[in-house]
Amino acid sequence: MSDKYDVIVIGSGPAGYVAAIRAAQLGLKTACIEKWKNKDGKGVNGGTCLNVGCIPSKALLDSSHKFHDAHKAFEGHGISTGDVKIDVPTMITRKDGVVKQMSGGISALFQANKVKSLYGTGKLLAGKKVEYTDFDGNTSTLEAENVILASGSIPVAIPVAPVDNDVIVDSTGALEFSEVPKRLGVIGAGVIGLELGSVWSRLGSDVVLLEAMTDFLSTMDQEIAKESKKIYTKQGLDIRLGCRVTGTEIKNGEVEVTYTDAKGEEQKQTFDKLIVCVGRRPFTEGLLAPDSGVNLDERGFIYVNDLCSTNAPGVWAVGDVVRGPMLAHKGSEEGVMVAERIAGEKTLVNYDIIPNVIYTHPEVASVGKTEEQLKADGIPYNSGTFPFTAIGRAVAASEAEGKVKMLAHAETDRVLGCHIVGPSASDLVQSVALAMEFGTSAEDIGMTVFGHPTFSEAVKEAALAVNGHAIHMP
Ligand code: FAD
Repeated sequence: MSDKYDVIVIGSGPAGYVAAIRAAQLGLKTACIEKWKNKDGKGVNGGTCLNVGCIPSKALLDSSHKFHDAHKAFEGHGISTGDVKIDVPTMITRKDGVVKQMSGGISALFQANKVKSLYGTGKLLAGKKVEYTDFDGNTSTLEAENVILASGSIPVAIPVAPVDNDVIVDSTGALEFSEVPKRLGVIGAGVIGLELGSVWSRLGSDVVLLEAMTDFLSTMDQEIAKESKKIYTKQGLDIRLGCRVTGTEIKNGEVEVTYTDAKGEEQKQTFDKLIVCVGRRPFTEGLLAPDSGVNLDERGFIYVNDLCSTNAPGVWAVGDVVRGPMLAHKGSEEGVMVAERIAGEKTLVNYDIIPNVIYTHPEVASVGKTEEQLKADGIPYNSGTFPFTAIGRAVAASEAEGKVKMLAHAETDRVLGCHIVGPSASDLVQSVALAMEFGTSAEDIGMTVFGHPTFSEAVKEAALAVNGHAIHMP
Protein backbone atom coordinates (compact mmCIF):
# COMPACT_ATOMS: atom_id res chain seq x y z
CA MET A 1 0.00 0.00 0.00
CA SER A 2 1.46 3.41 -0.94
CA ASP A 3 1.48 6.23 1.59
CA LYS A 4 -0.98 8.41 -0.32
CA TYR A 5 -4.53 8.27 1.01
CA ASP A 6 -7.86 9.80 0.13
CA VAL A 7 -8.49 10.35 3.83
CA ILE A 8 -6.27 10.29 6.90
CA VAL A 9 -8.05 10.52 10.25
CA ILE A 10 -6.05 11.51 13.34
CA GLY A 11 -7.71 10.07 16.45
CA SER A 12 -9.95 7.02 16.71
CA GLY A 13 -12.52 8.11 19.29
CA PRO A 14 -16.21 7.97 18.32
CA ALA A 15 -15.72 10.96 16.02
CA GLY A 16 -12.59 9.67 14.26
CA TYR A 17 -13.29 5.96 13.96
CA VAL A 18 -16.81 6.53 12.65
CA ALA A 19 -15.46 9.04 10.10
CA ALA A 20 -12.85 6.50 9.00
CA ILE A 21 -15.36 3.66 8.60
CA ARG A 22 -17.84 5.83 6.69
CA ALA A 23 -15.09 7.16 4.40
CA ALA A 24 -13.94 3.61 3.65
CA GLN A 25 -17.54 2.50 3.04
CA LEU A 26 -17.74 5.24 0.41
CA GLY A 27 -14.75 3.76 -1.40
CA LEU A 28 -12.13 6.19 -0.12
CA LYS A 29 -8.69 4.86 0.73
CA THR A 30 -8.52 5.64 4.44
CA ALA A 31 -6.04 5.44 7.31
CA CYS A 32 -6.67 6.19 10.98
CA ILE A 33 -3.82 7.11 13.33
CA GLU A 34 -4.25 6.50 17.06
CA LYS A 35 -1.78 7.04 19.89
CA TRP A 36 -3.75 5.51 22.80
CA LYS A 37 -2.03 2.58 24.54
CA ASN A 38 -3.82 0.06 26.74
CA LYS A 39 -2.50 -1.13 30.11
CA ASP A 40 -0.18 -3.58 28.27
CA GLY A 41 1.34 -0.79 26.16
CA LYS A 42 -0.46 -1.90 22.97
CA GLY A 43 -2.27 0.53 20.65
CA VAL A 44 -6.06 0.57 20.98
CA ASN A 45 -8.83 2.36 19.14
CA GLY A 46 -11.93 3.94 20.65
CA GLY A 47 -10.57 7.08 22.31
CA THR A 48 -11.88 8.54 25.54
CA CYS A 49 -15.40 7.20 25.02
CA LEU A 50 -14.41 3.59 24.83
CA ASN A 51 -11.34 3.48 27.05
CA VAL A 52 -12.08 5.87 29.93
CA GLY A 53 -15.44 7.48 29.21
CA CYS A 54 -18.91 6.40 28.12
CA ILE A 55 -18.38 2.64 28.10
CA PRO A 56 -16.36 1.94 31.27
CA SER A 57 -18.45 4.42 33.27
CA LYS A 58 -21.63 2.67 32.16
CA ALA A 59 -20.11 -0.73 33.02
CA LEU A 60 -19.49 0.50 36.57
CA LEU A 61 -22.90 2.21 36.75
CA ASP A 62 -24.47 -1.09 35.81
CA SER A 63 -22.48 -3.12 38.37
CA SER A 64 -23.17 -0.63 41.15
CA HIS A 65 -26.86 -0.46 40.22
CA LYS A 66 -27.15 -4.25 40.45
CA PHE A 67 -25.42 -4.17 43.84
CA HIS A 68 -27.71 -1.42 45.05
CA ASP A 69 -30.82 -3.26 43.86
CA ALA A 70 -29.72 -6.55 45.41
CA HIS A 71 -29.04 -4.68 48.63
CA LYS A 72 -32.01 -2.35 48.84
CA ALA A 73 -34.63 -2.77 46.13
CA PHE A 74 -35.78 -6.36 46.39
CA GLU A 75 -37.39 -6.49 49.85
CA GLY A 76 -40.86 -5.32 48.83
CA HIS A 77 -40.88 -7.90 46.02
CA GLY A 78 -40.55 -10.76 48.49
CA ILE A 79 -37.05 -11.56 47.28
CA SER A 80 -34.38 -12.13 49.90
CA THR A 81 -30.80 -11.86 48.81
CA GLY A 82 -28.86 -12.67 51.96
CA ASP A 83 -25.59 -10.92 52.67
CA VAL A 84 -24.74 -9.01 49.49
CA LYS A 85 -21.07 -8.12 49.04
CA ILE A 86 -19.11 -6.23 46.41
CA ASP A 87 -15.69 -7.35 45.22
CA VAL A 88 -14.30 -4.17 43.66
CA PRO A 89 -11.32 -5.72 41.80
CA THR A 90 -13.72 -8.19 40.09
CA MET A 91 -16.03 -5.30 39.13
CA ILE A 92 -13.05 -3.39 37.66
CA THR A 93 -11.85 -6.50 35.79
CA ARG A 94 -15.32 -6.91 34.28
CA LYS A 95 -15.26 -3.26 33.21
CA ASP A 96 -11.83 -3.78 31.59
CA GLY A 97 -13.22 -6.82 29.77
CA VAL A 98 -16.10 -4.75 28.38
CA VAL A 99 -13.62 -2.12 27.15
CA LYS A 100 -11.39 -4.76 25.56
CA GLN A 101 -14.33 -6.39 23.79
CA MET A 102 -15.54 -3.08 22.39
CA SER A 103 -12.13 -1.86 21.22
CA GLY A 104 -11.55 -5.24 19.57
CA GLY A 105 -14.84 -4.58 17.80
CA ILE A 106 -13.51 -1.36 16.28
CA SER A 107 -10.37 -3.10 15.05
CA ALA A 108 -12.58 -5.76 13.43
CA LEU A 109 -14.70 -3.05 11.79
CA PHE A 110 -11.55 -1.34 10.50
CA GLN A 111 -10.38 -4.62 9.01
CA ALA A 112 -13.76 -5.41 7.48
CA ASN A 113 -13.96 -1.95 5.90
CA LYS A 114 -10.28 -1.87 4.90
CA VAL A 115 -9.37 1.11 7.07
CA LYS A 116 -5.60 1.10 7.58
CA SER A 117 -5.08 1.27 11.35
CA LEU A 118 -1.83 2.99 12.32
CA TYR A 119 -0.77 3.13 15.97
CA GLY A 120 1.35 6.13 16.91
CA THR A 121 1.13 9.91 16.72
CA GLY A 122 -0.12 11.99 13.82
CA LYS A 123 0.86 15.60 13.22
CA LEU A 124 -0.65 17.77 10.52
CA LEU A 125 1.97 19.47 8.35
CA ALA A 126 1.37 22.06 5.63
CA GLY A 127 -0.28 20.92 2.39
CA LYS A 128 -2.36 18.04 3.85
CA LYS A 129 0.74 16.04 4.73
CA VAL A 130 0.76 14.08 7.99
CA GLU A 131 3.86 13.18 9.95
CA TYR A 132 3.32 9.74 11.46
CA THR A 133 5.52 8.55 14.34
CA ASP A 134 5.01 4.94 15.40
CA PHE A 135 5.44 3.65 18.98
CA ASP A 136 9.11 2.82 18.23
CA GLY A 137 9.79 6.43 17.25
CA ASN A 138 10.05 5.78 13.49
CA THR A 139 8.77 8.76 11.52
CA SER A 140 7.30 8.86 8.03
CA THR A 141 5.33 11.40 6.03
CA LEU A 142 1.94 10.42 4.67
CA GLU A 143 -0.09 12.35 2.14
CA ALA A 144 -3.84 12.67 1.78
CA GLU A 145 -6.47 14.46 -0.26
CA ASN A 146 -8.30 15.10 3.00
CA VAL A 147 -7.29 15.05 6.65
CA ILE A 148 -9.81 14.73 9.47
CA LEU A 149 -8.63 15.89 12.89
CA ALA A 150 -10.41 14.05 15.72
CA SER A 151 -8.00 14.41 18.63
CA GLY A 152 -10.72 14.77 21.28
CA SER A 153 -10.45 16.25 24.74
CA ILE A 154 -8.82 15.73 28.13
CA PRO A 155 -9.95 16.56 31.69
CA VAL A 156 -9.46 20.14 32.86
CA ALA A 157 -6.91 20.32 35.67
CA ILE A 158 -7.22 22.87 38.48
CA PRO A 159 -4.17 24.09 40.42
CA VAL A 160 -6.05 23.97 43.76
CA ALA A 161 -6.54 20.21 43.42
CA PRO A 162 -3.59 18.69 41.53
CA VAL A 163 -4.26 15.10 40.48
CA ASP A 164 -1.76 12.66 42.05
CA ASN A 165 -3.59 9.57 40.75
CA ASP A 166 -3.70 8.21 44.27
CA VAL A 167 -5.79 10.35 46.61
CA ILE A 168 -6.79 13.01 44.09
CA VAL A 169 -7.90 11.59 40.74
CA ASP A 170 -9.66 12.72 37.59
CA SER A 171 -12.51 10.84 35.90
CA THR A 172 -10.07 8.24 34.57
CA GLY A 173 -8.69 7.47 38.05
CA ALA A 174 -12.22 7.22 39.44
CA LEU A 175 -12.78 4.20 37.16
CA GLU A 176 -9.89 2.36 38.80
CA PHE A 177 -10.38 2.47 42.58
CA SER A 178 -9.36 -0.82 44.18
CA GLU A 179 -11.78 -0.44 47.10
CA VAL A 180 -14.83 1.62 48.01
CA PRO A 181 -13.64 4.90 49.56
CA LYS A 182 -15.43 5.60 52.84
CA ARG A 183 -15.56 9.37 52.22
CA LEU A 184 -15.54 10.51 48.60
CA GLY A 185 -15.36 14.14 47.50
CA VAL A 186 -16.23 15.18 43.97
CA ILE A 187 -15.36 18.63 42.66
CA GLY A 188 -18.00 19.41 40.03
CA ALA A 189 -21.63 18.24 40.08
CA GLY A 190 -21.94 17.96 36.30
CA VAL A 191 -22.80 14.88 34.26
CA ILE A 192 -19.53 13.03 34.86
CA GLY A 193 -19.36 13.95 38.57
CA LEU A 194 -22.94 12.78 39.13
CA GLU A 195 -22.37 9.50 37.29
CA LEU A 196 -19.11 8.67 39.07
CA GLY A 197 -20.46 9.92 42.41
CA SER A 198 -23.47 7.62 41.94
CA VAL A 199 -21.28 4.59 41.21
CA TRP A 200 -19.36 4.88 44.47
CA SER A 201 -22.32 6.09 46.53
CA ARG A 202 -24.30 2.98 45.59
CA LEU A 203 -21.37 0.85 46.70
CA GLY A 204 -21.29 2.54 50.11
CA SER A 205 -19.23 5.76 49.89
CA ASP A 206 -20.43 8.91 51.62
CA VAL A 207 -20.32 11.24 48.62
CA VAL A 208 -20.11 15.04 48.78
CA LEU A 209 -20.24 16.97 45.49
CA LEU A 210 -18.87 20.51 45.61
CA GLU A 211 -20.22 22.64 42.77
CA ALA A 212 -19.17 26.24 42.12
CA MET A 213 -22.36 27.16 40.24
CA THR A 214 -25.37 28.19 42.31
CA ASP A 215 -27.83 26.53 39.91
CA PHE A 216 -27.81 22.73 39.71
CA LEU A 217 -27.19 21.44 36.15
CA SER A 218 -27.39 25.06 35.03
CA THR A 219 -27.67 24.36 31.29
CA MET A 220 -30.53 21.90 31.70
CA ASP A 221 -34.22 22.69 32.00
CA GLN A 222 -34.39 23.93 35.58
CA GLU A 223 -37.69 22.25 36.48
CA ILE A 224 -36.19 18.87 35.60
CA ALA A 225 -32.84 19.79 37.20
CA LYS A 226 -34.60 20.63 40.49
CA GLU A 227 -36.58 17.38 40.41
CA SER A 228 -33.35 15.46 39.71
CA LYS A 229 -31.57 17.13 42.61
CA LYS A 230 -34.37 16.10 44.96
CA ILE A 231 -34.02 12.49 43.81
CA TYR A 232 -30.21 12.46 44.04
CA THR A 233 -30.35 13.98 47.52
CA LYS A 234 -32.82 11.31 48.63
CA GLN A 235 -30.37 8.72 47.31
CA GLY A 236 -27.70 10.12 49.61
CA LEU A 237 -25.65 12.34 47.30
CA ASP A 238 -24.71 15.47 49.27
CA ILE A 239 -24.76 18.16 46.57
CA ARG A 240 -23.43 21.50 47.78
CA LEU A 241 -23.99 24.36 45.34
CA GLY A 242 -22.13 27.67 45.28
CA CYS A 243 -19.04 26.02 46.78
CA ARG A 244 -15.69 27.05 45.37
CA VAL A 245 -12.69 24.86 46.25
CA THR A 246 -9.69 27.00 47.23
CA GLY A 247 -7.18 24.41 48.32
CA THR A 248 -6.37 20.78 49.06
CA GLU A 249 -3.83 19.19 51.35
CA ILE A 250 -2.92 15.52 51.35
CA LYS A 251 -2.07 14.20 54.82
CA ASN A 252 -1.69 10.57 55.88
CA GLY A 253 -3.36 9.22 52.76
CA GLU A 254 -6.41 11.46 52.98
CA VAL A 255 -7.17 14.86 51.54
CA GLU A 256 -8.39 17.93 53.33
CA VAL A 257 -10.36 20.18 51.01
CA THR A 258 -10.84 23.86 51.77
CA TYR A 259 -13.73 25.62 50.08
CA THR A 260 -15.81 28.75 50.29
CA ASP A 261 -19.48 27.88 50.71
CA ALA A 262 -22.54 29.62 49.25
CA LYS A 263 -22.57 32.08 52.20
CA GLY A 264 -18.94 33.02 51.51
CA GLU A 265 -17.68 31.19 54.60
CA GLU A 266 -14.58 29.02 54.55
CA GLN A 267 -15.18 25.32 55.18
CA LYS A 268 -12.93 22.29 55.44
CA GLN A 269 -13.81 18.66 54.76
CA THR A 270 -11.65 15.55 54.70
CA PHE A 271 -12.05 12.73 52.16
CA ASP A 272 -10.35 9.41 51.46
CA LYS A 273 -10.51 10.10 47.71
CA LEU A 274 -11.26 13.23 45.72
CA ILE A 275 -12.40 13.21 42.09
CA VAL A 276 -11.80 16.35 40.05
CA CYS A 277 -14.56 16.57 37.44
CA VAL A 278 -14.68 20.21 36.41
CA GLY A 279 -15.00 19.72 32.67
CA ARG A 280 -12.92 18.78 29.67
CA ARG A 281 -10.86 20.81 27.25
CA PRO A 282 -9.97 20.28 23.60
CA PHE A 283 -6.74 18.36 23.06
CA THR A 284 -4.43 19.64 20.32
CA GLU A 285 -0.97 19.21 21.84
CA GLY A 286 1.53 18.12 19.19
CA LEU A 287 -1.22 17.89 16.58
CA LEU A 288 -0.50 20.88 14.37
CA ALA A 289 2.74 22.06 12.77
CA PRO A 290 3.06 25.87 13.00
CA ASP A 291 2.42 26.18 9.24
CA SER A 292 -0.49 23.69 9.09
CA GLY A 293 -2.91 26.53 8.32
CA VAL A 294 -5.42 25.34 10.96
CA ASN A 295 -6.62 27.98 13.43
CA LEU A 296 -7.80 27.53 17.00
CA ASP A 297 -10.54 29.66 18.53
CA GLU A 298 -10.10 31.71 21.71
CA ARG A 299 -11.00 28.68 23.88
CA GLY A 300 -8.50 26.34 22.22
CA PHE A 301 -10.99 24.45 20.02
CA ILE A 302 -10.05 23.89 16.38
CA TYR A 303 -11.98 26.54 14.49
CA VAL A 304 -14.48 25.03 12.02
CA ASN A 305 -17.57 26.17 10.12
CA ASP A 306 -20.96 24.42 10.32
CA LEU A 307 -19.66 21.70 7.99
CA CYS A 308 -16.60 20.99 10.18
CA SER A 309 -14.23 22.47 7.64
CA THR A 310 -11.12 24.20 9.09
CA ASN A 311 -9.30 27.20 7.66
CA ALA A 312 -6.95 24.88 5.74
CA PRO A 313 -8.46 23.52 2.51
CA GLY A 314 -9.08 19.76 2.69
CA VAL A 315 -8.59 19.69 6.46
CA TRP A 316 -11.62 18.96 8.63
CA ALA A 317 -12.11 18.59 12.39
CA VAL A 318 -14.80 16.73 14.32
CA GLY A 319 -15.83 15.72 17.84
CA ASP A 320 -14.75 17.16 21.19
CA VAL A 321 -11.90 19.12 19.61
CA VAL A 322 -14.42 21.45 17.93
CA ARG A 323 -17.27 23.62 19.29
CA GLY A 324 -20.56 22.12 20.45
CA PRO A 325 -21.51 19.61 23.12
CA MET A 326 -18.77 17.18 24.15
CA LEU A 327 -20.78 14.06 23.40
CA ALA A 328 -19.78 10.88 21.60
CA HIS A 329 -22.84 10.81 19.30
CA LYS A 330 -22.37 14.46 18.29
CA GLY A 331 -18.80 13.62 17.22
CA SER A 332 -19.89 10.48 15.37
CA GLU A 333 -22.51 12.39 13.38
CA GLU A 334 -19.91 15.01 12.47
CA GLY A 335 -17.61 12.19 11.37
CA VAL A 336 -20.29 10.79 9.07
CA MET A 337 -21.09 14.24 7.70
CA VAL A 338 -17.46 14.99 6.86
CA ALA A 339 -16.83 11.59 5.25
CA GLU A 340 -19.97 11.98 3.12
CA ARG A 341 -19.09 15.59 2.19
CA ILE A 342 -15.62 14.42 1.08
CA ALA A 343 -17.40 11.84 -1.10
CA GLY A 344 -19.47 14.62 -2.66
CA GLU A 345 -22.70 14.22 -0.69
CA LYS A 346 -24.60 17.09 0.95
CA THR A 347 -24.99 15.73 4.48
CA LEU A 348 -25.66 18.08 7.42
CA VAL A 349 -25.75 17.60 11.20
CA ASN A 350 -28.88 18.90 12.92
CA TYR A 351 -27.28 20.55 15.94
CA ASP A 352 -30.73 21.49 17.31
CA ILE A 353 -31.64 17.88 18.05
CA ILE A 354 -28.80 16.28 20.00
CA PRO A 355 -29.97 14.20 22.97
CA ASN A 356 -28.12 14.55 26.24
CA VAL A 357 -28.27 11.94 29.01
CA ILE A 358 -27.09 11.54 32.60
CA TYR A 359 -26.93 7.79 33.22
CA THR A 360 -27.82 7.89 36.90
CA HIS A 361 -30.79 5.96 38.23
CA PRO A 362 -33.25 7.23 37.31
CA GLU A 363 -31.74 8.68 34.15
CA VAL A 364 -32.02 12.34 33.23
CA ALA A 365 -32.35 13.04 29.52
CA SER A 366 -33.14 16.01 27.33
CA VAL A 367 -33.38 17.09 23.74
CA GLY A 368 -34.06 20.47 22.15
CA LYS A 369 -34.69 23.77 23.89
CA THR A 370 -35.15 24.24 27.63
CA GLU A 371 -37.89 26.46 29.02
CA GLU A 372 -35.19 28.97 30.04
CA GLN A 373 -33.84 29.10 26.47
CA LEU A 374 -37.31 29.62 24.99
CA LYS A 375 -37.94 32.48 27.42
CA ALA A 376 -34.56 34.05 26.64
CA ASP A 377 -35.21 33.75 22.88
CA GLY A 378 -38.73 35.20 23.26
CA ILE A 379 -40.32 32.14 21.64
CA PRO A 380 -43.97 31.63 22.69
CA TYR A 381 -44.47 28.10 24.03
CA ASN A 382 -46.81 25.75 25.81
CA SER A 383 -45.50 23.33 28.37
CA GLY A 384 -46.89 19.94 29.41
CA THR A 385 -45.56 17.80 32.25
CA PHE A 386 -46.58 14.36 33.38
CA PRO A 387 -45.36 12.43 36.46
CA PHE A 388 -44.35 8.77 36.43
CA THR A 389 -46.45 8.27 39.60
CA ALA A 390 -49.50 8.13 37.29
CA ILE A 391 -47.95 5.57 34.94
CA GLY A 392 -49.00 2.00 35.76
CA ARG A 393 -45.84 0.36 34.44
CA ALA A 394 -43.67 2.72 36.51
CA VAL A 395 -45.64 2.03 39.68
CA ALA A 396 -45.58 -1.74 39.02
CA ALA A 397 -41.80 -1.57 38.65
CA SER A 398 -41.33 0.70 41.71
CA GLU A 399 -39.75 3.21 39.30
CA ALA A 400 -42.27 6.01 39.68
CA GLU A 401 -39.94 8.89 40.53
CA GLY A 402 -39.63 11.75 38.06
CA LYS A 403 -41.57 13.30 35.22
CA VAL A 404 -41.65 14.10 31.52
CA LYS A 405 -41.81 17.72 30.38
CA MET A 406 -42.58 18.65 26.81
CA LEU A 407 -42.34 22.11 25.26
CA ALA A 408 -44.09 23.07 22.04
CA HIS A 409 -44.47 26.29 20.05
CA ALA A 410 -47.57 28.15 21.24
CA GLU A 411 -48.73 28.93 17.68
CA THR A 412 -47.65 25.92 15.61
CA ASP A 413 -47.60 23.23 18.35
CA ARG A 414 -44.25 22.04 16.94
CA VAL A 415 -42.29 20.21 19.65
CA LEU A 416 -39.26 22.30 20.62
CA GLY A 417 -37.89 20.32 23.54
CA CYS A 418 -38.40 17.39 25.85
CA HIS A 419 -36.83 16.90 29.28
CA ILE A 420 -37.17 13.81 31.39
CA VAL A 421 -36.07 12.49 34.73
CA GLY A 422 -37.34 8.99 35.23
CA PRO A 423 -37.08 5.34 34.19
CA SER A 424 -35.55 4.71 30.74
CA ALA A 425 -35.34 8.48 30.18
CA SER A 426 -32.54 7.98 27.61
CA ASP A 427 -34.71 5.79 25.38
CA LEU A 428 -37.85 7.86 25.88
CA VAL A 429 -36.11 11.08 24.91
CA GLN A 430 -34.71 9.36 21.83
CA SER A 431 -38.24 8.63 20.62
CA VAL A 432 -39.05 12.33 20.96
CA ALA A 433 -35.81 13.26 19.16
CA LEU A 434 -36.90 11.04 16.27
CA ALA A 435 -40.31 12.70 16.17
CA MET A 436 -38.74 16.17 16.37
CA GLU A 437 -36.48 15.31 13.42
CA PHE A 438 -39.69 14.86 11.42
CA GLY A 439 -41.08 18.18 12.67
CA THR A 440 -43.71 16.65 14.93
CA SER A 441 -46.36 18.58 16.81
CA ALA A 442 -47.34 17.77 20.39
CA GLU A 443 -50.75 16.81 19.00
CA ASP A 444 -49.09 14.25 16.65
CA ILE A 445 -47.43 12.57 19.62
CA GLY A 446 -50.65 12.76 21.63
CA MET A 447 -52.53 11.03 18.78
CA THR A 448 -49.95 8.25 18.42
CA VAL A 449 -50.96 4.90 19.91
CA PHE A 450 -48.55 3.96 22.70
CA GLY A 451 -48.41 0.43 24.08
CA HIS A 452 -49.85 -0.11 27.55
CA PRO A 453 -48.40 -0.45 30.09
CA THR A 454 -45.12 1.25 29.15
CA PHE A 455 -42.95 3.99 30.61
CA SER A 456 -43.37 5.74 27.26
CA GLU A 457 -47.00 6.52 28.04
CA ALA A 458 -45.60 9.40 30.12
CA VAL A 459 -44.33 10.94 26.86
CA LYS A 460 -47.77 10.69 25.26
CA GLU A 461 -49.44 12.15 28.35
CA ALA A 462 -46.94 15.03 28.54
CA ALA A 463 -47.68 15.75 24.85
CA LEU A 464 -51.42 15.76 25.61
CA ALA A 465 -50.73 17.99 28.62
CA VAL A 466 -49.14 20.58 26.30
CA ASN A 467 -52.63 21.20 24.96
CA GLY A 468 -54.30 20.76 28.35
CA HIS A 469 -55.91 17.34 27.96
CA ALA A 470 -53.74 14.65 29.54
CA ILE A 471 -56.03 11.75 30.43
CA HIS A 472 -54.46 10.41 33.61
CA MET A 473 -53.29 13.72 35.05
CA PRO A 474 -53.47 13.34 38.83
P1 FAD B 1 -11.87 11.17 22.00
O1 FAD B 1 -12.80 10.09 22.35
O2 FAD B 1 -11.24 11.94 23.10
O3 FAD B 1 -10.75 10.50 21.08
C1 FAD B 1 -9.69 11.23 20.59
C2 FAD B 1 -8.58 10.25 20.25
O4 FAD B 1 -7.56 10.93 19.53
C3 FAD B 1 -7.90 9.66 21.48
O5 FAD B 1 -7.92 8.26 21.39
C4 FAD B 1 -6.49 10.20 21.41
O6 FAD B 1 -5.51 9.27 21.88
C5 FAD B 1 -6.31 10.42 19.92
N1 FAD B 1 -5.30 11.42 19.58
C6 FAD B 1 -5.22 12.70 20.04
N2 FAD B 1 -4.18 13.33 19.45
C7 FAD B 1 -3.61 12.43 18.63
C8 FAD B 1 -2.50 12.49 17.75
N3 FAD B 1 -1.79 13.61 17.58
N4 FAD B 1 -2.17 11.37 17.06
C9 FAD B 1 -2.89 10.22 17.20
N5 FAD B 1 -3.95 10.12 18.02
C10 FAD B 1 -4.30 11.21 18.70
N6 FAD B 1 -20.31 11.07 25.98
C11 FAD B 1 -21.52 10.57 25.65
O7 FAD B 1 -22.04 10.91 24.58
N7 FAD B 1 -22.19 9.70 26.46
C12 FAD B 1 -21.67 9.31 27.65
O8 FAD B 1 -22.27 8.53 28.38
C13 FAD B 1 -20.40 9.82 28.03
N8 FAD B 1 -19.83 9.44 29.21
C14 FAD B 1 -18.60 9.90 29.52
C15 FAD B 1 -18.03 9.49 30.73
C16 FAD B 1 -16.79 9.92 31.09
C17 FAD B 1 -16.19 9.46 32.39
C18 FAD B 1 -16.06 10.78 30.21
C19 FAD B 1 -14.68 11.24 30.57
C20 FAD B 1 -16.61 11.20 29.01
C21 FAD B 1 -17.89 10.76 28.66
N9 FAD B 1 -18.49 11.17 27.47
C22 FAD B 1 -19.73 10.70 27.15
C23 FAD B 1 -17.84 12.09 26.53
C24 FAD B 1 -17.23 11.30 25.36
O9 FAD B 1 -16.30 10.38 25.87
C25 FAD B 1 -16.58 12.26 24.38
O10 FAD B 1 -17.52 13.21 23.95
C26 FAD B 1 -16.06 11.50 23.16
O11 FAD B 1 -15.14 10.51 23.53
C27 FAD B 1 -15.42 12.46 22.17
O12 FAD B 1 -15.02 11.74 21.05
P2 FAD B 1 -13.83 12.22 20.12
O13 FAD B 1 -13.68 11.17 19.09
O14 FAD B 1 -14.04 13.61 19.71
O15 FAD B 1 -12.54 12.25 21.07
